[in-house]
Amino acid sequence: MKILVINCGSSSLKYQLIDMTDESVICKGNCERIGIDGSFITHKANGGEWKVEVDFPTHKEAFNKVVEMMTVGEGKVIESKSEIDAIGHRIVQGAEKFSEPCLVTDEVIQTIDDLSVLAPAHNKAHAIGLRSAKEVFGAEVPNVVVFDTAFHATMPPKAYMYAVPYEFYEKHAIRRYGFHGTSHKFVSRAAAEYLGKKPEELKMITLHLGNGASLAAVDGGKVVDTSMGLTPLGGFMMGSRSGDLDPSVVGYISELTGIKGNDLTDYLTKKAGFLGVSGISSDCRDIEVAAEQGDEKAKLVLDMYFYQLQKFVGSYTAAMNGLDVMVFTAGIGENSANVREGVCEGLGYFGVEIDKEQNKKRGMAINDITGPNSKVKVLVVATNEELMIARDTMNVVNAK
Ligand code: AMP
Repeated sequence: MKILVINCGSSSLKYQLIDMTDESVICKGNCERIGIDGSFITHKANGGEWKVEVDFPTHKEAFNKVVEMMTVGEGKVIESKSEIDAIGHRIVQGAEKFSEPCLVTDEVIQTIDDLSVLAPAHNKAHAIGLRSAKEVFGAEVPNVVVFDTAFHATMPPKAYMYAVPYEFYEKHAIRRYGFHGTSHKFVSRAAAEYLGKKPEELKMITLHLGNGASLAAVDGGKVVDTSMGLTPLGGFMMGSRSGDLDPSVVGYISELTGIKGNDLTDYLTKKAGFLGVSGISSDCRDIEVAAEQGDEKAKLVLDMYFYQLQKFVGSYTAAMNGLDVMVFTAGIGENSANVREGVCEGLGYFGVEIDKEQNKKRGMAINDITGPNSKVKVLVVATNEELMIARDTMNVVNAK
């Protein structure tokens, strides 16, 4: 079975064609600047890479180009689009409407579109992508939607409710949803498999530390709490996002700057976090280099980051009444030995200890960095959200 995994943003379309017989990637690429001057596609296949400038007024033209790149020329990997058995789409916000991946119908697309109010930057683009995919690939190819929020749907009300008047939840669906669910699911399952255990037997904390970042407390294979909230702005500090704030801070910054409403959300999404505090960069590597060179603000960023993560790990250990496994993943979690060491150093009380030499190794699918006397397993697992989407898509299609 060949599955095309799609991740549509407002001006981009990322794709990956996966052969499910061995879960290998047949080809992948990205259409960028859709609807903007200077649009282009990059396509990787057969050991080569191509960048072609093409006019993409809408996502439909981008999809057509993806099909062309896969079926014609040196980057050709299939004879025709009919070889694609199913398409799996990444959708950011499923809210309480979708707690499982499902087949796409017109009604499903409309519901995803309607949920844009909870994820304006993402769901609109996903709905456009879904409509274009249906047009380009036709009714014969099943489309499946896989939600970033779905893995968190098991959270109990005490974890997802905000202490604001209840009508905001009842009438406007304001609550914690959590994101990066596909990644948290992938790495928690991979960690359990590596340890030779069933997910039901383990209390885990998965740390998805990328430019956007979140933690999940996964008790017995089910999420019981997660750091992101109504939107991916919540939780701990990230590359350029503030994370959780005293709500009064938001009002006060608004008063001081005159920035309001969605613009203020945008400001706290793009100008805060590592970037805002350091004034240097949102990129963890730049912060680490600057800290190494003695920059006080960069050092402060790392201190804050480790401290905030330690507090989350502590509170989730309490929430689960125990901790068996910690899993680091995503750009920072997979690559920064310094961050992993910095976070784990403060967790000795919980019995967390890492092997500092093993922690320095990189580029493995799973790196077990557990120290010899650690009571908690500490793993680094390379996430693969596209593969998780492909697996979920295959399961939905096979269950038809
Ligand atoms: P992601 O959003 O998962 O792609 O992760 C992006 C983040 O990973 C950026 O902040 C990068 O600085 C960080 N990152 C990637 N490689 C490294 C590395 N070798 N050391 C530290 N951070 C890294």
